[in-house]
Amino acid sequence: MPSDSIPLQNYIAGQWVDAERSATLPIENPSTGAIIGQVPLSTAAETHRAIEAAAAAFPAWSRTPVARRTHFLFALLERLRRAEEDIARSITLENGKSLTDARAEVKRLIENCEVACGMPVLQQGDKLVGASEGIDGEVLRLPIGVFGMIAPFNFPGMVPFWFLPYAIAAGNTYVLKPSEQTPLTMQRIAGLLADTGLPPGVFNLVHGDRTVGEALMDHPKVKGVSLVGSTRTCQAVAERCTRNHKRFQAMGGAKNHLVVMPDARVDEVVRNLLSSCFGCAGQRCMAASAIVAVGDATYDAVCARLVEAAQKVVVGNPLDPAVAEEPMLMGPVISAKALAFVHEMIATGIQEGARLVLDGRKVRVAGHENGHFIGPTIFTEVKPGMAIHRTEIFGPVVVVLRAASFDEAVSILNAHAYGNGASIYSQNGHWVRRFKLEVDCGMIGVNVGIPAPVAHLPFGGMKASQFSQIKAQGRAVIDFFTEPKVVTERYWPEP
Ligand code: NAD
Repeated sequence: MPSDSIPLQNYIAGQWVDAERSATLPIENPSTGAIIGQVPLSTAAETHRAIEAAAAAFPAWSRTPVARRTHFLFALLERLRRAEEDIARSITLENGKSLTDARAEVKRLIENCEVACGMPVLQQGDKLVGASEGIDGEVLRLPIGVFGMIAPFNFPGMVPFWFLPYAIAAGNTYVLKPSEQTPLTMQRIAGLLADTGLPPGVFNLVHGDRTVGEALMDHPKVKGVSLVGSTRTCQAVAERCTRNHKRFQAMGGAKNHLVVMPDARVDEVVRNLLSSCFGCAGQRCMAASAIVAVGDATYDAVCARLVEAAQKVVVGNPLDPAVAEEPMLMGPVISAKALAFVHEMIATGIQEGARLVLDGRKVRVAGHENGHFIGPTIFTEVKPGMAIHRTEIFGPVVVVLRAASFDEAVSILNAHAYGNGASIYSQNGHWVRRFKLEVDCGMIGVNVGIPAPVAHLPFGGMKASQFSQIKAQGRAVIDFFTEPKVVTERYWPEP
């Protein structure tokens, strides 16, 4: 069945159900403007039913041996691998990213599922024999209860998998709310999960907008919530969860800087950073959106080569066979609203005196007049603190800044509000070592454009990019989904 004909339903207590809803929202193919479905805006009462189902499933599921719990993930893996191309096409259809980017997303989603299959090892506790005279200490890593997740539009499949497989493998039960802009992919994957025979209530899917998210955060039976979204939403989630005494993860916006040192190999750098700047039309939380070139010669070379290379990016509908397999293809941004914001920021950049050296507003995709396309856009002569430097534009707009020295480059990065990812291009170990130690970002790259860690390693930022300490995926996220209960135990000798 093609993704666009999937009827959107909620999955609650092991059943597909028509949502109790306040309204529906159209789901749009951002490349064509065609309406490809309607997402139900589920009510708080409907969300409560999913939470109650998850709560009812928790006692038996948490007592199920961990290796048996992971059997369901192994079964899911088989199904995900069989459906890999289908899932990638569903992502491209509703999100607009190229098939190459969508396939990479599915690979990372699967990788997270693979890592979570190691839960029998990951969930092991610790024991300290002889903590005191005749006393041992033990740390048990126990499941906690019902968890919720609120997902963003830009990685409809991968981001939920930073949390979901770990949560359930660790013995918790789950309620997931996909983005209302891109709900089709998780609907499809939920079908695969349901097909594994997972006990009813362990996983539940509720479509909708912030009403569902708020119902998750307010319900006393939900023990924790993971949110990935804009920094404004992070702020709201952090405040609400704190008020309700819930644990939370809140991963937010970004403005990722790439620093190019004078010894960098500019040709290779530009080839490498093109995909970081313009892949997914700049709608990655790890997109490179600010380039800091150190020294005038580096700055001139980077500006010239970047503009030349960016002009070769093909802009089009990624499901159009004529362009689908182009090596550097850029699709649309997600919506008319997102496109209007990108235009507004470009106008702001011109007003504040930056030089618009490549203007993506001129790009037209023939036959796709209702698609939300904009071409690669580059500003030079950008000064730290300009609005186009401060703001997460979340489109294919790159700002280039000049720094006189390594120290000045680092101070530009560290003065910025966001701290998700940052990369340095250099062959010099001294600069690289200082960059790793001194830059206040959660994920650092060295001669790589997108330092997005593989699923075995923690994913997360600092400063306004993350409002919580526990990162996503890998071993790190187990701390979020388990309670480290500590036992201090003694037995007196037999008489
Ligand atoms: P968004 O904040 O608009 O929405 C994210 C989710 O939150 C949606 O499901 C939405 O329905 C829900 N939501 C919105 N307001 C809410 C509220 N007040 N209470 C509860 N739920 C609410 O974000 P988006 O536009 O879908 O995603 C893009 C943003 O996500 C960008 O800022 C991007 O940088 C960020 N992002 C960050 C990471 C990361 O790892 N830090 C990863 C991916 C995306």
